[in-house]
Order: sequence, then structure tokens, then C-alpha cells
Amino acid sequence: MDNNKKTRLVVLSGAGISAESGIQTFRGGDGLWDNVPFEEICSPIGWAKSPKRVTEFYNARRAQLAEVKPNEAHLILASMQDDYDVRIITQNVDNLHERAGSKHVLHIHGELTKVRPLDCYTSKDGFSTEYVQDIGYRPVEIGEVGGPNLKQLRPHVVFFGEEVPNLSKAARLVQQADILLIIGTSMQVYPAAGLCNYAQDGCDIYMIDPSETPASAVLGVNHIKNVATEGMKEFRDMLNKMTHTI
Ligand code: NAD
Repeated sequence: MDNNKKTRLVVLSGAGISAESGIQTFRGGDGLWDNVPFEEICSPIGWAKSPKRVTEFYNARRAQLAEVKPNEAHLILASMQDDYDVRIITQNVDNLHERAGSKHVLHIHGELTKVRPLDCYTSKDGFSTEYVQDIGYRPVEIGEVGGPNLKQLRPHVVFFGEEVPNLSKAARLVQQADILLIIGTSMQVYPAAGLCNYAQDGCDIYMIDPSETPASAVLGVNHIKNVATEGMKEFRDMLNKMTHTI
């Protein structure tokens, strides 16, 4: 079926969708960040203090990504493309949605498998991706440079406190949603957390998360209080039933 005729399902995913693949979340329980002050690692100040520490941290995340696989939640979402016009907006820097087969994935916090020279992809060059490089899962070394001015390569991720260049694209997608699914995000990291406010009247909003989050308190959000894999099965079955009773 032509994508224009399908119901548009916009998904806002966060670290929780990848938790069952073995990638730790930021917060809660055994969160990756409970022992690491993230302002020190994922921030321009952290980089200024020690580019080596930041580089090694992301090298480790990238190496781990090579070892994990998409889980049932990523796979169900990809399979829903047969019946829905699925658009994924992810806060995740992993590539598990793509590896599951999802075709439309917008990364708002960057991608682990990419790097860029320090002076590129800034407001000065209009966030041009010309010098963004795909490096797969390999580590980056201090002293490794690129771009026209041969500057140190840094992770192609949005550090805390940095601008989120894909935010307006993401807001437009949320505005066009017939159904909005928020999955595995604590909705605590702004500005991404504000995206659900762009949903139009009449858009059905669902959330899959085993915990209460700021969004789950909002009237009208259907909260499936379960982990991503089980929650996605419930969500898919719920939508199927609705389609068949219309
Ligand atoms: P977060 O860590 O703040 O919140 C994770 C949410 O997932 C929580 O609400 C938690 O209850 C829920 N959760 C935990 N286990 C779950 C499961 N099995 N199924 C479903 N939900 C589960 O994550 P966030 O809101 O995405 O925070 C944003 C930041 O985290 C982003 O900037 C993102 O780049 C970064 N991050 C990404 C990854 C990744 O790429 N996989 C991993 C860690 C952090």
C-alpha cells in the first residue's frame, strides 16, 4: 500500500527500547550513568577537560553496539511498516532500529557509528553533514583528524548543552502523527521531552514503559506498563483489534 494512504504511526523511542538488547539506560536501577557523572563525559566541558576520556567512553559504547542485536520490540516496529506509515524519532545513538529493518529513522541525539571533525556540523556551516563519517564499530584515536582543517574527530552525538539540529524536523513529524507511541524514554531530557506536545488533537497517544514517567501522568496517554518487547506485542494486538472492529 502507498505510504500516503496508511495511518501514520510516529514513534518516539528512548534508551528503554534497547535495554533488553543489553544496552544500559541512562537512569534507573543499573543505569549506565549512575556511576558516571554524565555532565563530565557527554558535554563540551567534559570534552575540553579530557577529549581522551570522552573518546574512550564512546569507543566502548561503539564496541558494545557491535555485540548486541535488535530485540523483539525493534523487530515488531519494523514489521508494522507493512500496515502503517511508521516514522521513528529516536533519542538513541545505537543503530538497532535500522538493523531491525525500519526505513524511516530520525536520530535526534546523533549516531554512535559516526564521527565528525570538531569544527564541522556546527551552526556556522548550517549543520552540514558533508564531513560526517561512518566508521562502523571501530575505535577512534586521539590525533585522528578530518575535514578541511584537519581537526580532531569527535563522536557525532549531541552532548548535553548542545543544540539539537534535528528537533524541528522531529516536531513536524509529531504534528503529522495519527498515532504517537512513546517507548522506553523517561521524558526527562529536554528539548526531546517536549516533542509530545506537538501532537495534534485527535492523535492517539500510547506509552510503553515499565515505570511511571512525566508523560504517563498526562491525561489521555494510554500507558502500557510493561517492558518494550512485551509492551510492543500488546500495542500491536491492540491496534489490530481496533482496525478489525472499525
Ligand atoms: P533514560 O535512561 O532517561 O530512560 C529510560 C526509560 O526506559 C525509563 O523511563 C525506564 O523506565 C525505561 N525502561 C527501562 N527498561 C525498559 C524496558 N526493558 N522496556 C521499556 N522501557 C524501559 O533514557 P532516555 O529517555 O532515552 O534518555 C535520553 C538519553 O539517553 C538520550 O540522550 C540517549 O541518547 C541516551 N541513551 C541512549 C542509549 C542508546 O542509544 N541505546 C543508551 C543510554 C542512553
